[in-house]
Parts: sequence; C-alpha cells; structure tokens
Amino acid sequence: MDTTHNVIIIGSGPAGLTAAIYNARAELHPLVIAGLEPGGQLMTTSVIENFPGFPDGIEGPVLMQNMIAQAEKFDAKLVYENVVSVDFNQKPYKIKTPGNEYLTKSVIISVGSKPRRLDLESEAKYWGKGVSTCAICDAAFYKGKVVAVIGGGDSAMEEANTITKFAKKVYLIHRKNEFKASKIMQDKTFTNPKIEVIWNTVVNEIVGDMVVTGLTLFNNQTNTESELKVDGMFLAIGHIPSTEIFKDQIELDEVGYIKTPDGVHTSIEGVFVAGEVADPSYRQVITASGMGCKAALEAERYLSHLL
Ligand code: NDP
Repeated sequence: MDTTHNVIIIGSGPAGLTAAIYNARAELHPLVIAGLEPGGQLMTTSVIENFPGFPDGIEGPVLMQNMIAQAEKFDAKLVYENVVSVDFNQKPYKIKTPGNEYLTKSVIISVGSKPRRLDLESEAKYWGKGVSTCAICDAAFYKGKVVAVIGGGDSAMEEANTITKFAKKVYLIHRKNEFKASKIMQDKTFTNPKIEVIWNTVVNEIVGDMVVTGLTLFNNQTNTESELKVDGMFLAIGHIPSTEIFKDQIELDEVGYIKTPDGVHTSIEGVFVAGEVADPSYRQVITASGMGCKAALEAERYLSHLL
C-alpha cells in the first residue's frame, strides 16, 4: 500500500501486454494486474495466421506467453489477481484486488470484452473445435465446407460474407424475421449466392463428435425442431465489454464500452484505455496491440509532465 506505482495496467491480453512492454522498456516499472487467467481471449484460440511476423501462424497461447516473457524481460511485474474496484476520484488512484490495494499515478485499462455466447453446454464443449467468434481468424479453416453464422447485426453480415470466400455454403441463422444490420450490409448478404438465411430460428444444441457436425435448430414461429448439418458455427451476437467495475468511475457509452475521443484518452486524466474495451469494431490482436502501444506512450508522456 505504501508504494505509488507509475502506471498500473489492468488486463493481460495483447493490448495490456504491449503497453507493459513499452512502459517497461521506458523504465516505468509497470505493474500488470493480469487477472486469474492471463492472456485474454487468445488463450482459447488456436492458430493465428494474421499476426504479422509469423508466416506459418502462431498458436494464441504461445503468442501470449511470448508477450508475457517479453514484458517480464524488461521488468514489468505481473500479479495474477482480479480487480474488484477502482477509485479514480482522487490521486493517486486506488485499485483494489481481493488481497491488495494498489496506488498509482496512471492507469491503462485493457480488460477487453467477451463475445456474447448462447450459453449452451455444447457450445463450451465445441469452443475452438468448430465454434468460433472470429471469421477473420478462422474462416480459412473452412475451405469447401458448410458453416452457420448466428446473428442479425453488422458483424453477422460481415462474418457470413467473409466466410463465403472459403466455405461452399453459409447458413445465416437469425432469431427474428428481419435484420438489424445496416442496409448496405444486408444488400451484400442477400446478393451473395453462397448465403442462405434461416429466419425465426435459434440454436437449441450443437452436435458433433470430436468437432462440430451439425446443429439442432428451433423455429420460434412453427415451434418445430430440425437438424442442420454444418462443419462449423460462428457466433456474431454481440460483445460485452468487461467494464462492470468502472461504471461509476469513468464515462461509458450506452453499451458499456469506455468512452474515448481518440482511442486512447478517457474521461479521467491519467487513465488511458486500450483494446477491445474501447473498440467495438476491429477486435484484432494487431489493433489491440497498436492501441496498447499508443496508451503506453500517452501514459509515459503524462508521467513526464508530472515529474
Ligand atoms: P449487434 O448488437 O448490433 O447485433 C447482435 C445481433 O445478435 C442482433 O441481431 C441480435 O438479435 C443477435 N443476438 C443477440 N443475442 C442473441 C442470442 N442470445 N441469440 C441469438 N441472437 C442474438 O452486434 P454486432 O457485433 O453485429 O455489432 C456491434 C456494433 O459494431 C454495431 O454498432 C455495428 O454496427 C458495428 N459493426 C459495424 C461493422 C461495419 O460497419 N462494417 C461491422 C461489424 C460491426 P436481435 O436483432 O434480435 O437483437
């Protein structure tokens, strides 16, 4: 409790760890509150083929272990605790975990967001084995295959269209009889010959052996169940930013993302943001890392003015 840190980074996905590498190299001795399961969403991802510098791809967990090792090499300290509350009302800022209370001059929030799930047991079973939330990451694994995309927003349209570059057929399954996506995205979807829309339908169960082989569907108009053979299922039903602990401390938008005028600053001086917690659109490892770099440089600049 007696040390006031220069910078505390909350979260240990690519945004937080990139910030840690930059701030550690600048000899700011950042403390990373990494959570109980460090590494973020990439720890449950298989091969990443679009992170520059790895022509043969790299396993998500390996990439994150490498980032942790790189941050620690430059003297970033990671603690494996969950933040339970923050106090940005007075300086130095306070950050509480179940066992500790930390003081800091600046903060980088990089706690990410979670893809919304259907909350089916079978969804957990086949996560990474045919169930995905990222077409840019995983569509290439479905060359010549049949895939389902769930959702009716812009993400679902974008995922469905992306996957048709590889898959021979994409079923777009939506619980209503109209999409909420923008007209331009809908037009793109309706004119894509590889996409077939299944309206008024939800997924009751995901079936398979080692990997996904099909879905049990439920039509909410006819109240009937049916089976659909697919090789994979992509969820595009929105994301939930992990901002519950910040909601009385910092400005959030109506969905819960941290408000930022420029992708780095927040409504509180000395508190910066990086990664998916402020980015509903791109959600890539490279964009999260880029935001982490920017947040670290801004934190460094802020601290240099304090000294
Ligand atoms: P949205 O919240 O816009 O859409 C989520 C969709 O998933 C909705 O159709 C919703 O159904 C459906 N859904 C939610 N929960 C469930 C559930 N449990 N079971 C079945 N279906 C469910 O999220 P998006 O990720 O699509 O978009 C987020 C933001 O990012 C938006 O502002 C969007 O415009 C933007 N975006 C823009 C892009 C672009 O411009 N290129 C690309 C991607 C995203 P219902 O319709 O019934 O509510």
